[in-house]
This record gives sequence, C-alpha cells and structure tokens, in this order.
Amino acid sequence: MSAEARYRALKGMKDVLPPDIHLWQKIETAFREVFGAYGFQEIRTPVAESTDIFVRSIGETTDIVEKEMYTFEDKAGRSLSLRPEGTASVVRSFVENRLFNLPSPQKFYYMGPMFRYERPQSGRYRQFYQTGVEAFGSPQPEMDAEVIAMLGRLLGSIGLPELVFQVNSIGCENCRPGYKEKLLAFFGNRLEGLCADCARRYRQNPLRILDCKVPGCVELRQGAPKITDHLCADCRSHFEGLQRLLDLLGLSYAVNPDMVRGLDYYTRTTFEVTSGSLGAQNAVAAGGRYDRLVREFGGPETPAVGFAIGMERIVELLHQSAGAVVPAPDIFIASMGGEAGKQSFLLAQQIRDRGLWAERGDPAASLKSQMRRADRIAARHVFIIGEEELRSGIVRWKRLADSSQGEVALSDAAESAVRLRGDSLSS
Ligand code: ATP
Ligand code: MG
Repeated sequence: MSAEARYRALKGMKDVLPPDIHLWQKIETAFREVFGAYGFQEIRTPVAESTDIFVRSIGETTDIVEKEMYTFEDKAGRSLSLRPEGTASVVRSFVENRLFNLPSPQKFYYMGPMFRYERPQSGRYRQFYQTGVEAFGSPQPEMDAEVIAMLGRLLGSIGLPELVFQVNSIGCENCRPGYKEKLLAFFGNRLEGLCADCARRYRQNPLRILDCKVPGCVELRQGAPKITDHLCADCRSHFEGLQRLLDLLGLSYAVNPDMVRGLDYYTRTTFEVTSGSLGAQNAVAAGGRYDRLVREFGGPETPAVGFAIGMERIVELLHQSAGAVVPAPDIFIASMGGEAGKQSFLLAQQIRDRGLWAERGDPAASLKSQMRRADRIAARHVFIIGEEELRSGIVRWKRLADSSQGEVALSDAAESAVRLRGDSLSS
C-alpha cells in the first residue's frame, strides 16, 4: 500500500529541494559577488505592504494590479497585499528611512519571493523569486548603462547561454502624452481588430497595446508610430547617451520600440533580457528607469533605475546547460559495535569542527550495508573503525572514487581527514 500525501502545496507555489537548491545557492553566491564589485548593498523589505503602495506605483490599470495581486484584509480591516514585485517596497523603504540623506547614489539589491495570482504554467508561478536592484540618485545614462552592464555580468557569472538584450526609451511626462495621442489616432480606426484586453487598453493605457502577444494585435500594430521617433530632446539625448555607453562597453543589444513593459512607473529607459532557450515565458530579466516614483512616495526628486531577474527561469536555463552539482560528504565513518560507534561519533564531531562534512554509518548495521550507504551518498572517503582498529589505534581509510586506501592513527584521524580531502581535491 503506497502512502498518499494528505496535504499539497498551493497551486503555482512549489518547494525548492535538493538537488535544485544547490543550483539556487550557487547562483545566489555568484550574484552576491557581482553586487559587491558594483557596490550594491542588500536590502530586505517585508513580503507584505499596504495595498496602496502597489496600486499607486505599479498603476491601477496594469495587469498586475487589476488581476494578479494577492490582496486581503488583516484582522483590523486594513487592505494588505503580498508584494508582486520589489521596486515599490524598496522605494517605500528608501523614503520612509530617509535614505536620500546618505551620499548619492544609493545602490541596493534584494533577493526574495514575489506573489502574483497568475495562471501557473512553465516559467510562471504564483510564488516566484526575483533578484533585483534599485540605484537611486543619478539621472545620467551612465547609471542606466552601469545597471545594464551589471545585469550582463550577473547572468554571465553563472554562464547563461543565448541571451538577447533589448532596450527602449518610453519617454517622459513631456513627450509621452503627445505620443499617446499619435497611438490613439493610429489604433482609433483599427479598434474592431484588437483583442478585448487591447480594446480596454486603448482607453486606459494605449502604450500597452504594443506589448500584447495576441497574434491579431501583433499584426495590427505594424506601421504604428514608434515612441523612439517621438521623444523630446532630453529623452532622445539620454537614450542616445545610453546606447553610446553600451557600445563603449561592447555590450550587444537591440533597440525595440515596442518594448513598453507592464508597469506604469517607468520613465525613459526600459530594457529586457530574453533567452532563446526558454519557451513562451522567455523573459529572464527586465527593468527600467523610474525618475518620478520617489517623489510620488513623498521623497525628494530622486531619479532611479533598476531591474529584476526571474530566478526560476535562470535556474531552468542552468538546468538545461549544466545541471546541479550535488555536494557530497568528505568523510563517511563506518563503525562496528558500541565502543567503535562512540569513537565514530566523537570523530565525526572533530572532523566537522575542522569545517569538513562528516557522516556516520549505523554501528549496529553490517559493514557491507554501511559501505552501500557511503556509496549512495557519494562520500569521498570512508573511515572504518571496528574492534581491531580500536585495539591497534589504527584506522583504515578508503577513497571511493578509485578504491585507493591506507591507514592513519585514530588519534590523528580528524587531521588526516583534512589532509585526505586536500589530496583528493588536488589529484
Ligand atoms: P512576463 O512578461 O513573463 O509576464 P513581466 O513583465 O510580468 O514578465 P516583470 O514584472 O518585469 O515581469 O518581472 C521581471 C522578471 O520576473 C520577468 O522577466 C520574469 O523572469 C520573472 N517573472 C515575472 N512573473 C513571473 C511569474 N509569475 N513566475 C515566474 N517568474 C516571473
Ligand atoms: Mg507578467
């Protein structure tokens, strides 16, 4: 009779278990190193905030706020939401903690779970993880370029293949309204052809039509006016400056005037990284500039730029290219009988004190079954302690990879473990 799980994780939310977790940790470690080089410090904000914070920043008519938020009332009747993304919380924290008083620019990164009530599918979950950054205080295209270059460095540090960088400028409060008029005029006599969502977007947020994936809408927007042809002089020079800097860094990218992103707070630069090796959900990271958000949250005029990386999608990509390296114990101690078991217990602690990973077999089990277990967990070396070894004070060791073996003094076994590990790493 097979056991049946009584409880299941929520739809669209999943456990991260070994061996996958090792891939996650490897990525996180590589990322933290890159953040260090670029001077980004970690910030941790709560996973829930007042609903207002997201509605105001992400925008009332965006997919995230309209359809995807986990919003609920707490016991005091306040409306809370689980964060669907990281930027709003970081900006809230930046203003609340008056971080604008610190020397500019202030550069932060975060890693953590985000929540969106979406239809779960490959690459799309209801709890998913993002690693993101926010750089506050610089209006210059150098900051956009630095952040984009860092994104390239992050993804490069874990060896991701086939990445495509796309950049765009969606203008500012001076030039975007004029462009919107042009779009409205263009789509005005094509309304019948638009999908239901885009018909609504036409009234609420016409730029979003450019982002629609429905084939009819993609077809229909051929020949639509391009935002890049309608930027004001300041936005144009910012965008040209950014491209010159990306060229200087030798970063390859494409300008995509249709890439408008699904959040309202962006101004000027937007960018996205996609991978040719993922299916329909092929965006691995996305970001942009948001020069007005700090002000809207009650802080001083503070230009800012950031991005977020979708962690599940890069884990998926790494799976395709490499797979997880599963860590294995350095030493497995097989012991037979009560006294030997006691010695193995003590020895395991002494080895762990030296920073090595030690595991023990069950002293009541046969040597054969203990060896089988050492093999299954891929231990590098086995120490064997039996009656005979206790009497002589000499312990046998065995390296499982090549069956080489030898003897060490029991009293020196922990130090020997360190030496054996060093030898096996250098051989
Ligand atoms: P998509 O077009 O895939 O819906 P998005 O524009 O909603 O992405 P952003 O809000 O820009 O995504 O989030 C940045 C990154 O977070 C995305 O590029 C993606 O890698 C990841 N991401 C977004 N939503 C999800 C989700 N539901 N599940 C897993 N990853 C996600
Ligand atoms: Mg989305």
